[in-house]
Amino acid sequence: MVDIDGSGNFYAGGGASIASIITICKEKGLSGIEFMAGIPGTLGGTIRMNAGTNDRGIMDAVSFIDLADASGSRRIGKNELEYGYRHMALPTKTVITGAGLSLNVTSPDDVRAKVASFIDRRRNQPKGLSSGCIFKNPEEGSSAGYLIDKTGLKGHRVGGAFVSDIHANFIINDGSASSSDILKLIEIIKDEVKKQFSVELEEEVIILA
Ligand SMILES: Cc1cc2nc3c(=O)[nH]c(=O)nc-3n(C[C@H](O)[C@H](O)[C@H](O)COP(=O)(O)OP(=O)(O)OC[C@H]3O[C@@H](n4cnc5c(N)ncnc54)[C@H](O)[C@@H]3O)c2cc1C
Repeated sequence: MVDIDGSGNFYAGGGASIASIITICKEKGLSGIEFMAGIPGTLGGTIRMNAGTNDRGIMDAVSFIDLADASGSRRIGKNELEYGYRHMALPTKTVITGAGLSLNVTSPDDVRAKVASFIDRRRNQPKGLSSGCIFKNPEEGSSAGYLIDKTGLKGHRVGGAFVSDIHANFIINDGSASSSDILKLIEIIKDEVKKQFSVELEEEVIILA
């Protein structure tokens, strides 16, 4: 469900896809979330990850979130939330049922142009089965993909999983990879980056045991 009050305040349920929110923003001329264009996921999932680009996360556009847990539901303002680069401190066993976004009213053409430019930047991302970036960038201004590239691991394969030749922070599943292939490749990458650059890469993906 989406509710727009005409002044750029936008409400969507936690299960709303980012793609559908972007579509509405383009139609209504609401600006401020164009950088999320092309990122797969739901509003709840992307808030949980504070997903976004290198320098922005969806929390930049969020004004409050609605949460539900065994004790009931509540609304939490952005100022009460602890978040950062690909990080959101949510209490455990809590579901984001919805969120308010604070956007700017502009023209549909303006939003369409910005969305197109963000989608364009993604054209160079690897195609195929992947989880997107595997590792967080180790610190501001540095790039996990660059470090992995410099280790020489591009194309390195374990079973059906290999390091993308296009973007070294992507592991591609050729369709036959097992989870253990991917986990082994993650360990090889971490070990090599640690050995060559003394940098501890931290996974951006959440690994379910
Ligand atoms: C090809 C590709 C490209 C990508 N590019 C980017 C990118 O550029 N930038 C980026 O940041 N990410 C990127 N990602 C990663 C991904 O899109 C994000 O992590 C996104 O947040 C996943 O959203 P989801 O709804 O699918 O959540 P899921 O992947 O299903 O879940 C992610 C986490 O959020 C939790 N969660 C999900 N929904 C809720 C909810 N309603 N309430 C509470 N917790 C919840 C889950 O339990 C899990 O811990 C990419 C992924 C792919 C496959």
